[in-house]
Amino acid sequence: MRDPSPLELLTARPALRMDAEAGLLFENLPLIDIVRAHATPTWVYGADTIKTRYRRLKTAFPTTKIHYAVKANDHLAVLAVLAREGAGADVVSIGELQRALHAGIPPNRIVFSGVGKTETELSAALHHRIATINVESPEELATLSALATAAQTRAPVALRVNPEVDANTHEKISTGRKGDKFGIPIAEIPALYAHASTLPGIALQGLAVHIGSQVTTTAPYHAAYTKLAALVRDLRAQNLPITTLDCGGGLAVPYRNEPVPLPEAWAATIAKAFSGLNLALTIEPGRWITAPAGLLVARIIRSRRQNMPRPLHVIDAAMNDFARPAMYGAWHGILPLSPTALHAPLAEADFAGPICESSDFLARRRAAPPLHEADLVAILDVGAYGAVMSSTYNARPHAAQVMLHDGIATLIRPRPPVADLWSDETVPTDLK
Ligand SMILES: *Cc1c(COP(=O)(O)O)cnc(C)c1O
Repeated sequence: MRDPSPLELLTARPALRMDAEAGLLFENLPLIDIVRAHATPTWVYGADTIKTRYRRLKTAFPTTKIHYAVKANDHLAVLAVLAREGAGADVVSIGELQRALHAGIPPNRIVFSGVGKTETELSAALHHRIATINVESPEELATLSALATAAQTRAPVALRVNPEVDANTHEKISTGRKGDKFGIPIAEIPALYAHASTLPGIALQGLAVHIGSQVTTTAPYHAAYTKLAALVRDLRAQNLPITTLDCGGGLAVPYRNEPVPLPEAWAATIAKAFSGLNLALTIEPGRWITAPAGLLVARIIRSRRQNMPRPLHVIDAAMNDFARPAMYGAWHGILPLSPTALHAPLAEADFAGPICESSDFLARRRAAPPLHEADLVAILDVGAYGAVMSSTYNARPHAAQVMLHDGIATLIRPRPPVADLWSDETVPTDLK
């Protein structure tokens, strides 16, 4: 596939605009103003984009509950925008559970997924009376039943099914194939479901499935949901009640302007598979809601041309800030902030971070305008699986985070001073 040009990337993204004087605008605010106030690298999130996308999903899924997958972007401000829209949350740790509650998402709209929930986490889920615990193994089921019985309560449970379907996505984000660590093999479900229905501490609701992330066609969804619908009929034929079905997340975003299913196509796939079964349906999208709502603004520290196959722009955002290109080979658009660069002739260039790792690239062989030291660029579609995956590797403090809301840019997390990196470290007394 041919890479989209910077102009094509811009045109396909409604929240972005190039102003002849102010340069690149995000939700109508000049990014240069944010750089002047907060320097680089800085994450910029657009609250309107988050809202617009959530509402778009709501329109496509009018009767389906939407639980935002918190791991995609767990900043309190992002969660607050979604909480106000009425979104629920899908959490995978006690930290995410507490974040979601702190941001104002009510416990009865929270579901807890994950293969390794500890007893502390399961107890917290019971204590807060969340909507559903998606149980991923027979061992977890037994532990949860015991904990609930001891607490004189019953745990609201769905069994997470591994449907043994290939989501045709990146190896590292596929979760529903035979041998993936997630969920209970589909063949084991009928016996375990029957067993779960007899356990004193378990209030069995139904089933859950999540086949992977960045799913770019509806075919894998169709395959998984068809198996799930047959399973629901089987369970009911054995007089086992099942009232809920969690259809997971994973809907792709067009990072590269590639064709991806619209929310309506995903909704139609779900409606078709489960029509007539009278199930309360839920979905748990993360990436689709927040990815296009985030940019990472960075500055070119150094541009090298001599004796290079193509220009190498070393920018001040690196793999510690944004891991996806190094970790998954992910492709993210890069736009100059300057209006003149947008229409300049394109030539291949590489974009790397300053970290001492050969994998620290943000983009390779990218069609880019001529760029020079001190020029500013925005890395696109980084609102999901961006800042949440940051580290401080190479003693680089976390980047600043800004949210645009109602025409105002708010610093929602300042860039910490370098000394914060070691402020909680201790040196043994005899080494001081
Ligand atoms: C990560 C995850 C999601 C969200 O996936 P996206 O690709 O961000 O939509 C949903 N459900 C579960 C169980 C997950 O682990």
